[in-house]
Amino acid sequence: MNNDPASRLQKTLTTGQFKGVNTAITDSATFAFDDAYAMTDCFQGKSEGAFLYSRHWNPTSIALTNALAAMENTESAWVTGSGMAAITSAILQICNTGDHIVSSVTTYGGTFAFLKNYLPKFNIDVSCVDITDLDAVKAAIRPTTRIIYTESITNPLMQVSDIPALSEIAKENKLKLLVDNTFTPMMINPTELGADVTLYSMTKFINGKNDCVAGAICGSSEFINELIDVNTGTCMLLGPALDPIRASSIHKNLFTLHIRMQKHSRNAAYIAGKMDRQGLKVNYPGLSRHPQHELLKKIMNPAYGFGGLLSIDVGSTEKANKLMVGMQDKGIGYLAVSLGYFKTLFSNSSSSTSSEVPGDVQDKMGLSRGLVRFSVGLDHDIEQTWETIEAILSDI
Ligand code: PLP
Repeated sequence: MNNDPASRLQKTLTTGQFKGVNTAITDSATFAFDDAYAMTDCFQGKSEGAFLYSRHWNPTSIALTNALAAMENTESAWVTGSGMAAITSAILQICNTGDHIVSSVTTYGGTFAFLKNYLPKFNIDVSCVDITDLDAVKAAIRPTTRIIYTESITNPLMQVSDIPALSEIAKENKLKLLVDNTFTPMMINPTELGADVTLYSMTKFINGKNDCVAGAICGSSEFINELIDVNTGTCMLLGPALDPIRASSIHKNLFTLHIRMQKHSRNAAYIAGKMDRQGLKVNYPGLSRHPQHELLKKIMNPAYGFGGLLSIDVGSTEKANKLMVGMQDKGIGYLAVSLGYFKTLFSNSSSSTSSEVPGDVQDKMGLSRGLVRFSVGLDHDIEQTWETIEAILSDI
């Protein structure tokens, strides 16, 4: 399978300057030039391959961006100090004052807050729609619309975005389709499905170690070069560059991503199946009764399963809290936000990672106060994990 993302990624492996098996860390903010004219050329964007300053490019970060671009099948990529930096920089690069965005109403709460609370400062308006309702997406488009924004699988409601259909709508209306693929690296390839820009919080599955926050923007060379233009680039001018020491550690972790994604998916599918058979209100796109299960089968890479995230609605905040504290006490994992870690993480979305979404909007989109989101870990003995969860569930 040569066109598998993991195979493409592995082809980027090379030895370093002294035959080190890992890319050397270039621990320099600035770079010397042999002559002053070469520096002038660099400021004018004329010197391919020359390094100027690490807010622009750094050799260690380039090694990571090359690997990400190979994995995503994009021409280029750029890495940021957080997922939010990637999302906000990409949006601010495309939109000007007076522009408009059509976004999925279910997105990560920080993204929702940026779109609805922060962008109005720049007179950028956002219409939030049910992203699975393509007629609603079309109806929301205005002459000033620049972007359709969504997540491949939305946080926390686990709706699957029909990226090919959204791409068609975007192309018909000359819009950019931006897709946050944080939940589904390797499993879904937004670029191959028609997205213009793929965004990541690398804090999650890509790094997988929960030791840092980081993000990535993957897209055309033209877009990445626009972002780092010394005069007008959002990344160059707002400065969210990832530190090269972190780029190096994330780069190493990336090469185990394919194995981790497979195991996260297998474990989540096991737990979701058990919950489903017990008649619990579990939401997992791998279940055949999930409303977009067939769509997901069409757009996903089957080698990586249906993903490591699921949610369960236990009916009330009190029950959710009892379940989460019980699971933490019994060593199932941690009552903590974030996802994609080797230990299971769980949180009550309504009061945590979606708390930025006003209560009436949560009600409208169907986000129950009793919803607990699980990012299922890499447990070796998932049967034992389930037995423990089952006992806690029967006691709440
Ligand atoms: N996108 C999604 C889907 C997320 O879940 C998160 C964080 O939880 C982000 C983006 C933001 O990423 P970061 O925390 O790395 O800034």
